[in-house]
Amino acid sequence: KTEKKILEDSIRDIQDFPKPGIVFKDITTLLNNKEAYGVLMNHLYQRYKEYNLEYIAGIDARGFIFGAALAQMLGIGFVPIRKKGKLPYTTISEKYALEYGVDEIEVHIDAFGKQIGARVLVIDDLIATGGTANAAATLVNQTGAACIECCFIIGLTFLDGIKKLQEKTDVYSVIEV
Ligand code: 5GP
Repeated sequence: KTEKKILEDSIRDIQDFPKPGIVFKDITTLLNNKEAYGVLMNHLYQRYKEYNLEYIAGIDARGFIFGAALAQMLGIGFVPIRKKGKLPYTTISEKYALEYGVDEIEVHIDAFGKQIGARVLVIDDLIATGGTANAAATLVNQTGAACIECCFIIGLTFLDGIKKLQEKTDVYSVIEV
């Protein structure tokens, strides 16, 4: 089996979650599969070891799982980008549109240190409309750091989210669906 096939086979489609008509990509079956999880983390390490990254910013909540593991492998720091109201210190926040309504994510203002332009990789499990990642990249740049790339395990290509995000930053998906 190729790496891509191992990863694709480990992700499960759940019909009608969280709402009727939606097919949810379930990555818990990748995480509890030691071969697939290992293949994925090694793939990410090989890609990013020469990027001279200074921080990984993981998006709440599945971005924490991959982001924290990758930060340790690269020997750099991890920063959580969280849903509104979860972070205890001073934050900056960014709203983004959902299908119905708006949501908001936040980061600590000092999360990426004092140095201007710290090189940051934003990571999440999946990009759909790109609204979440776009807000995350904006937040990183607003702190004075630099979003070098947004990385996803799964990129949904039929929604144009990737194309839109590419106007702001580089984008990489391990698997495209
Ligand atoms: P977007 O803002 O790009 O429309 O949605 C991406 C966000 O919603 C990500 O934080 C992602 O975790 C979550 N998400 C949306 N659809 C799915 C899905 O099918 N599977 C998983 N695992 N996450 C999803």
